[in-house]
Amino acid sequence: MQIKSAEFVISSPGVQKCPDADRPEYAFIGRSNVGKSSLINKLANQKKLAKTSSTPGKTILINHFAINGEKMYWADLPGFGYAKRSKKMIKQLQTMIYGYLKHRSNLLTTFVLIDSRQEPQAIDLKFLDWCGANQIPIAIVFTKTDKLKPTIINQNVDAFQEAMLENWQELPPIFLTSAIKDYGLEEILDFMDYTNTFYQPRAF
Ligand code: GDP
Repeated sequence: MQIKSAEFVISSPGVQKCPDADRPEYAFIGRSNVGKSSLINKLANQKKLAKTSSTPGKTILINHFAINGEKMYWADLPGFGYAKRSKKMIKQLQTMIYGYLKHRSNLLTTFVLIDSRQEPQAIDLKFLDWCGANQIPIAIVFTKTDKLKPTIINQNVDAFQEAMLENWQELPPIFLTSAIKDYGLEEILDFMDYTNTFYQPRAF
């Protein structure tokens, strides 16, 4: 899929305030600093569509982007797991993210971003287990694969899959990406284009 246009639509404090669910939507989520903004910008072929974080974890808003006119929305969800947040703010963030993921009727896939440089992190696995338990449609995107040797990246990816398989019967789609070297971007865009053709609003 070619991105011909990508435009910021609105920032929303929760699912009730998101734009009308009148087209397929893909969401992006991950821990602060995982490379989410860089990936969204690269996918959209724009420099500053999503803001790369100078103060990680600051925004707790859902940002919507209209892609290729009215073809689809991309939703940039706030980064989680940022250490310098109060308990109250963490709870607020969780309520907002979980509410969005559970109730957004046009959500086709949530791309869960995982830093490929790290061994499996409990916070990511816990979040994925919650997605599984709540039947949230997901795909996993390993980021920053340019940063280490391919053998190490593959070890980390294998370890992550093994950790997931402790609770999952079948793994979701997995992408290996680099926003610096442009790895995996076309695969994600093609996946969106393909899944778009089967789009049906979720039944709750
Ligand atoms: P966000 O907080 O998840 O939105 O993360 P950002 O996109 O702001 O990226 C966090 C940091 O990681 C920035 O310094 C980026 O330049 C860097 N970064 C993001 N993606 C990549 C990547 O694919 N490769 C490398 N080497 N660095 C990356």
